[in-house]
Parts: sequence; C-alpha cells; structure tokens
Amino acid sequence: RDSERYAETKSTCCYCGVGCGVIIESDGERITGVRGDPDHPANFGRLCTKGATLHLSATPATLALRAAHPELRESKAAPRSRRSWDAALDHAAARFAATIREHGPDSVAFYVSGQLLTEDYYVFNKLAKGLIGTNNIDTNSRLCMSSAVTGYKMTLGADAPPCAYDDIAQADCLFIAGSNTAWAHPVLFRRIEDAKKANPELKIIVVDPRRTDTAEAADLFLPILPGSDIALYNAMLHVMLWEGLVDNAYIAAHTEGFEALKAIVRDYTPAFAADLCGVPAEDIVKAAQWFGAAGAATLSLYCQGLNQSSHGSHNNAALIHLHLATGKIGKPGCGPFSLTGQPNAMGGREAGGMATLLPGHRELANPEHRAEIAELWGVDSVPEAPGLSAVELFDAVHAGKIKALWIACTNPAQSLPEADKVREALARCDFVVVQEAYADTDTAEFADLLLPASSWGEKEGTVTNSERRISRVLAASAAPGEARADWDIAADFSRRLGIALGRAQQAAAMFPYVRSEQIFIDHAETTRGRDLDITGLSYARLENQGPQQWPCPTGAASGRTRLYVDGVFPTPSGRARFVAVKHQPTAEAIDARYPLRLTTGRLRDQWHGMSRTGTVARLYSHEPEPVLELNAKDMERRQLKDGDLVRAKSRRGGIALRVRASDTLRTGQVFLPMHWGRRFMDSAGANALTIAAFDPYSKQPELKHAAIQVEKL
Ligand code: SF4
Repeated sequence: RDSERYAETKSTCCYCGVGCGVIIESDGERITGVRGDPDHPANFGRLCTKGATLHLSATPATLALRAAHPELRESKAAPRSRRSWDAALDHAAARFAATIREHGPDSVAFYVSGQLLTEDYYVFNKLAKGLIGTNNIDTNSRLCMSSAVTGYKMTLGADAPPCAYDDIAQADCLFIAGSNTAWAHPVLFRRIEDAKKANPELKIIVVDPRRTDTAEAADLFLPILPGSDIALYNAMLHVMLWEGLVDNAYIAAHTEGFEALKAIVRDYTPAFAADLCGVPAEDIVKAAQWFGAAGAATLSLYCQGLNQSSHGSHNNAALIHLHLATGKIGKPGCGPFSLTGQPNAMGGREAGGMATLLPGHRELANPEHRAEIAELWGVDSVPEAPGLSAVELFDAVHAGKIKALWIACTNPAQSLPEADKVREALARCDFVVVQEAYADTDTAEFADLLLPASSWGEKEGTVTNSERRISRVLAASAAPGEARADWDIAADFSRRLGIALGRAQQAAAMFPYVRSEQIFIDHAETTRGRDLDITGLSYARLENQGPQQWPCPTGAASGRTRLYVDGVFPTPSGRARFVAVKHQPTAEAIDARYPLRLTTGRLRDQWHGMSRTGTVARLYSHEPEPVLELNAKDMERRQLKDGDLVRAKSRRGGIALRVRASDTLRTGQVFLPMHWGRRFMDSAGANALTIAAFDPYSKQPELKHAAIQVEKL
C-alpha cells in the first residue's frame, strides 16, 4: 500500500435495496479494496459476497469491458464508430427534435433504472415531462416494486414503507412472504438471524413456493402455490376474526372499508384456502394465530413474490390488511415492510421518475400537483395523461409508435418479460440511444448511439434504501475513458435538445447543473410540505451526520424512524383503507402441453443481468452456470438425471440448459435463475419464457409465473 496515495471514501453498495454503507479504498487512481462501513446504520460494517467483491469489478481487466467513448452508427447496417461527446449529443438532439416535430412529444420515450442515483432520475424526469412534454419515461423499477407502491397507496394512502430495519430486533413474529431474504437481501437476513439468537421465542413464518435458505430458518413454512397469496392472507384474516384476534378498537378508530372485506373473507375458510394455496389448513390457522397473537409485535417482510404478479397490488393489499386488522402497524417491531429490490428504486419514486408519477410523490391526475411541478420547473405545464409503463412502452416501440428511445443504465433486452419481442422492438426502432457503463450488454447491441456512463465508485449523488434512508454516494476514482455521470449526460443533452427545438434559453435555465448537489437542492425543494419532505437534508448534513430516513423537514433534528405512529393515514379521511380483494388465478394456467409452473428468482452471488457481477470470477463459485431445477419425481418422469441438457419451452420461446433435481420444489414446479442472458447463452435466458401479462393497477408484469414444458435434448 502506498500510504501517501492511499485514500478511503465512504459510499454505498450499488446492488440491492438494503443499501449497505461501504468504505472504498483507492490508491489515488484506482479502486483497490472495499469494506463495510461500521458507522452505516443499514449494515454496521457487514457486507455480503456481492458487496465485498465490488472492488474486483473495478480492476484494469474489468474496466476494459466498459464503454469508454461515444459511438454512433449512421445506419442499422453500419458498425458503430467513435465520436466526440459534442458530435454524439448534437446528433441525438437533432434526431429527437426531428422526431418530436414530426410525430409529437409522445413519439419519444426514456427507459431508465433503479440503479440510477436520485439526481440522475431527477434530470431525466425533468427532461421528459418538463422540457419535451411527454410522460413516456418509465424504469426497470416497474419490474420490481410498483405493486408494493400501489399496495401501499391503496391501503395506507401513500408510497411509504412505514418500518425500519431496527423493527426486526423488536418483533415477536416475522412474517416473510415472497422473499428469499437469505440470498436477495443477505445483510438484512443477518439481522433476522441475530434477532432469533437474541430471542429464541421469536416466531418466523416463511411463505414461498420454494423451500429456500430463508425457509430453512422458519418455525413455520407455508409452501404456497404461485399466485395464491390473496387466498392465504384472506384465510388468515378469517381465522383472526373467528378467534377474536382482530383489534376492533383500532379498526373502528383508524380504518374504513372493513365490513366489505369481512363479507368476502367469510368464505375463505382454512380448508377452502388450503385447496387454493396447496398448504395444510392447520398451518394457515397456526400462521394466523402467531401473526395475530394479542400483544405480540408482528413484522412482515415481503418482496418480488408478491410484486411480480398479475395481481400484485392486491397481494400487497391483502397482506397489509392483516396489520390493519390487528393494529400491528406504527408500533415498534410491527408493520408491513416491502423490501426494495434495487439500490435506488425508492429514490426514483421520490423523484417521480415513472410514467405514472410526478416528483415529491405527486400524482399526474391531480391538476394542483401538475401546476406545482410546472412552476418549480419553469414550464407552462406538464402533461396529464399517464405515459407508457415498461411493458406498454416496448409494445409501442414494437408497433412503431415510439420512434426514438433513450435507455439508461438498464438492460431491457434481457430483463423484460418476453425478451425476444423486446429485441424485435429494439431492432425496429428508428433511433435507439443506450447510455451504459458496460459495452457488452444484450441491449447495447441495439444502440444506434452508445454513450459511456460512469458507474459505482466513479459518481456521486444520493440513494434511498428500503427503510427510507438516504445515503450519500461518493466517487473514489475517475471513470474510464470518456465516461460521464448519468445526470451530466442527461443535462447536457437537454440543453442541446433545447437548442434543436428552438427553446435554447428555456432549456439552459432548466438544466443549469454542473454539480450533482444543485440537483439535490432542486429535488429536495419538490418535497417541501409533502409526506417525504427532505428539505432539512443537504449533502453536508448527510456527510457529517450520516444517512437519514425521510421525512426530515427543515428544522428536524433527525429523520423519522417509523410512520403512522398516531394512527393517522395520508388518505382524504385520515383512515387506512381495507380493499375488497379476492383470490385471482395466475395469468397463464398450466395444461397438458405446458404442465410445469416456472418461477424465476435471484441467486445469492449474482445481480440482475450480471453486467457487473459477471465480471468477478469469485462470484461464479456458488453457481457457475444457469441450471433449471425440478422436483426429483418430475426428473424421473422425463428420464432426466442431474446435468442432462434439456429444452425448456413456453408459448413465447425456448431455452437450452442443464437440469438438476431439487428438494426445494414440489412436483410440477420448476425454478430458473434470472441472471444469465445472451452474453452467456444462445437465448435471452429466463425471459425467453416469461409472460408479459401485468397487474392492471401497478402495470408490473408477472415474472414469477409461467407455464412451461421441459424436454430432454
Ligand atoms: Fe450490497 Fe445488498 Fe449485499 Fe448489502 S446486502 S452488500 S447492499 S448486495
């Protein structure tokens, strides 16, 4: 170590929504190491395998895989060649301006990412909705958390996880549903293990179609059939009513709509639900008794198993009902706590960076909200009609309605359902800009213009983790080549687009940003007086006092740990709402031709499409290649043995890979990890099989279930 040049920089891990703090070690030029930040309240120094190997994704060898210079192709048939930033962004501005002039603002779209920092999100959103006047900006967070958002809004009135990580240690019962926390949020799972060790009486219930590592830690495991969550939660409420476990005083004082739901759950006897869910009726009763036990603090932790469903919003609502009916919310160790998949899905929502939102948790449909944002942005108006959500957006590209598309920091050719159709859409689109750190993603191949973006350890701004905690992200080294920060690229493009549209002055005034802190100040101002008010935060405060939970308004001594402590909810009546939800089937039923239920998910040591984790050799030791897991009986029926090559097929496409017997699955179920795409195999991977059907409220697609067949090759 060259002690003269050695430096340490506090930042965060760029993978999951736990939002662990890291200390990046560098030699003045290069990142040389990483360790957990002992002072960060999300992890207190702990890191999982992915976080602990972050520095290995920044070695000279891995940096060579990065996009380093702008590259443009003049026609689809031509190869891309290097351009200057000026030439690249002027070309993009001219193409976007011509498209807008000829076909209108809604003929262009932006598809961004929960990996972006809040400042990046803010600028892209302002560019689309403010400067161009289209709400066609959506994000890969649509695939991740949008059903959690609608679930919260339907019931509690706002998109605000009411709990904190500290609640895990204070709970008497942990209800973990649709979340393999042990693999997907490993550092948070360490808290669960600690809580159990400190309190052996702690009851852990795990609901999951697979017997995951998380399920192994359960005192009660409910291996439900995919998509049957509502039946389970309604049946638990049925038992709670029958056994007098509901808190009638809380329901009367703080909620509305209970009678309509009560009439529905009357039919959800444990025996009725047991058939739909595929779990024993007595286990449903036991889960309800543990969850609803008088005086016990119950905390629910849930994730994609609920969200990635064609009825994900109602899955969320049905689980939140259990907290409202028992009054187990707004108290230590209590509440419905959605675990965020991506590092900054929360920050993106706060900045309003989705086709259906405005900054500061404002609604497009609300004229006052639109007027407030128009005033803050210095524009006449922002459009009212919702833009296209992720699946709809790529359908519109496929249909030729979107003619210019800007993709930033995400890989839709691999990560969206029905990925082969997405590839077709990208190939047809007149002009595709891909702003990326990595030059070799499945999506980069479709870029007419590839813009190199800086990445973890090279850029600064803020992120918000699952518990509403905002952390500073800092740069420890320069980006490779000519890569620039995402917000900087977006702001520069905006000013050039303004010139191309004949609105140079307006664009210059809207996008004066030369430092990310200017953007944070603008973003914070949009939250003034709102439920997520962060006008009391600044870069200096976050650096000096550490990460803070929102809200943290001007004058607040610190952020707020827990929401709804007073039982008042941000709805018109101030009461939380029960929603009359009923069991709904999955979008695609199994049949004789496609008799197996596919579910997809994460592995412990990989992240999303592996752009970054795929560059770290050590992370393959857990699972070196994608393997399709089946129950041993299903293997036997097909005369398959471990390692055999098979073709898995759905109505959308097929994929060839090896199989393995797994006792984590019941017969008729199949599991495939989501990580591998065309960079590693001859298909888009799991999303060659998945279905694009989506929830009508959240527009989140059903990535957790598809009907497939498996044949030996
Ligand atoms: Fe990073 Fe999540 Fe692991 Fe923490 S738990 S180190 S945020 S991947």
